[in-house]
Amino acid sequence: MKLILLGAPGAGKGTVAKMLTAIDGSVQISTGDILRAAVAAGTELGKQAEAAMKAGDLVSDDLIMGIMEERLQEDDCQSGYLLDGFPRTIPQAEALKALLAKMGEQLDCAVNIDVPREVILDRLTTRRTCTDCGAIYNVKSNPTKVEGVCDACGGSVVQRDDETEEAISNRLDVYNEKTAPLADFYDNEGMLLTVNATSSEAVIDAIKGKLGM
Ligand code: ADP
Ligand code: ZN
Repeated sequence: MKLILLGAPGAGKGTVAKMLTAIDGSVQISTGDILRAAVAAGTELGKQAEAAMKAGDLVSDDLIMGIMEERLQEDDCQSGYLLDGFPRTIPQAEALKALLAKMGEQLDCAVNIDVPREVILDRLTTRRTCTDCGAIYNVKSNPTKVEGVCDACGGSVVQRDDETEEAISNRLDVYNEKTAPLADFYDNEGMLLTVNATSSEAVIDAIKGKLGM
């Protein structure tokens, strides 16, 4: 399947994407993960993205489109892909549309995971992420077996730099201003599936229903 996953930070895009990869071998493409890896590796890309990310601001559309234009041409995309955290602005959505048209590809749909703000805030402040494999935990609902150690890979599980209260509040404002309008954009394209669900299983079921799986 070829999907866009929309939704505020903490809506569960990453968790849903990981669950979907297990269904049909589609790859999860998370621009946030790509950028965090670049920052950790200290590459030129990482240097350009670091300050904006730490503040909870978006990195530039040009930088993101450069990454995605290359990424979407890689071989593993043949089995389908789940775009997690991209596109995030109207210009990115327009550029993606042009890119896909050029590549002769069509997406199945854009899934908007709509979760109440209180749930989002609670999730983001309690979320912990593995710095090695990206696995996501939650200190309340899904803790690691050993504190600070990833169950899956033994890597170190920490609170992200941009998950301080100040950065979270900025990320939600940026989301409302820049990314929320994408729901209308994809609705106009006839591609939108909105799911009001706080459980990832319910989101998966709605997607399967929509795709007739
Ligand atoms: P979230 O939990 O907010 O969905 P992500 O892991 O998707 O977080 O992204 C983390 C940060 O990486 C964002 O706050 C932003 O600085 C940057 N980023 C990720 N994807 C994009 C994008 N498509 N456009 C611009 N910036 C992005
Ligand atoms: Zn891990």
